[in-house]
Order: sequence, then C-alpha cells, then structure tokens
Amino acid sequence: MFQRQQCSHTDQIREDVVPSAQGCEDCLRTGDTWVHLRECLVCGHVGCCDSSPNRHASQHFHATEHPIVKSFEPGEDWRWCFVDEMLV
Ligand SMILES: [Zn+2]
Ligand SMILES: [Zn+2]
Ligand SMILES: [Zn+2]
Repeated sequence: MFQRQQCSHTDQIREDVVPSAQGCEDCLRTGDTWVHLRECLVCGHVGCCDSSPNRHASQHFHATEHPIVKSFEPGEDWRWCFVDEMLV
C-alpha cells in the first residue's frame, strides 16, 4: 500500500544555524575519523554519518531529539529527518 508520508518536524529548522565545526566535532575531540558529515539544522552541531564508525549525527539526535540534519558535504543539498527516516 502506498502512503504519502509527511514530515512534521520541518518547523524546527533554523535557517540561520552556524556549523559548529568544519569536521565532526566529537571525532575531532577524540582523534577519530569519519566518512561523511551531517549538520544539525536545529543547533548547527556537525556530526558524522551512519557509515562512520562513531555515527555522531545519530548520537546527537538520540541525545538532543533534534530531528533534522542536512548533508555537510560539498555539492550535496538534501535534508534528512531522523524521526520519519525520510528526506524532507
Ligand atoms: Zn520529521
Ligand atoms: Zn564523529
Ligand atoms: Zn542539534
């Protein structure tokens, strides 16, 4: 059954967020490496993706319940809602 799903979290996006770092701030602190970067659109936290060993972007969502991140990779322009598990 096809069901159109809507994300109800986009009103938490702040257009004026400033990235907290130019890399995953938690990995930078511990000296770990990452694969791709995601930026929280609620507070600007920069964390690493689920392909990275530490998955700090997901950890940030679980710790703060900030639902939406965007890709922090050059040339990529998409947003992901962790709650709905969909692009928004
Ligand atoms: Zn959502
Ligand atoms: Zn990380
Ligand atoms: Zn956040």
